[in-house]
Amino acid sequence: MAAEAGSGGGANTPLGVLGGTFDPIHLGHLRLAEEAREALALAGVRLIPAGQPPHRGTPHSTAEDRLAMARLATAANPALTVDDGEVRSAQKSYTVLTLQRLRAELGAQRPLVLILGADAFAGLPAWHRWEALFELAHIAVANRPGYAPHGRRWPATLSPALDAACRGRHSADPADLRTAPAGRIVPFDMTPLAISASLIRDLVKNGHSVRYLLPDPVLDYIAAHRLYR
Ligand code: ATP
Repeated sequence: MAAEAGSGGGANTPLGVLGGTFDPIHLGHLRLAEEAREALALAGVRLIPAGQPPHRGTPHSTAEDRLAMARLATAANPALTVDDGEVRSAQKSYTVLTLQRLRAELGAQRPLVLILGADAFAGLPAWHRWEALFELAHIAVANRPGYAPHGRRWPATLSPALDAACRGRHSADPADLRTAPAGRIVPFDMTPLAISASLIRDLVKNGHSVRYLLPDPVLDYIAAHRLYR
């Protein structure tokens, strides 16, 4: 198995891409990456913290803090790497631009797999140039409590535009991800974890423990930097 998520595993081994605000990174994100890697036989997963997320308000912690927490959370797992491209960019963090950057870096043939929770997937039509995403990467969709239950993976309702864009792209077989660089949609099941960054921020703000919802080094970072108070 690849040691570096960006280059290992052979030219045809799909590489996972997990973007997010990671404000803060938590075990839901980490299990999503790890279970996608295993279920879809990915070379690894690149976690890409957003610099300026376009679809939501200003994050509660700085891009540098969110990047540092993502690095701490993944330090012990060589299959998960952190990409600082969006944080370092002066542009808004549009996924389409990030995938274009990865394409330029990794070549036109490398299968890329954009990993999304069911909530993010259902919201796709609000993303900048979202239909171009299908030309740049495969999309893997995981269940998320409150949005799509385990065994269903798929959001209960999809906008007609998204439904139409998905037609003919479904695949139940992860092996299909190796046969093209982009364009398939593969649902997969992960351990249902009702953890969200907003839940963690609320708990910290109200003086409650968040231990065991995120890795201990991230917990220590939040305490040391007095984040989310
Ligand atoms: P917030 O609560 O601040 O909205 P979040 O916990 O949803 O944050 P994001 O950084 O917005 O975290 O999510 C990045 C990606 O991870 C999205 O695709 C989202 O669907 C997915 N994700 C986050 N938490 C989970 C979870 N518990 N289960 C499955 N997917 C998740």
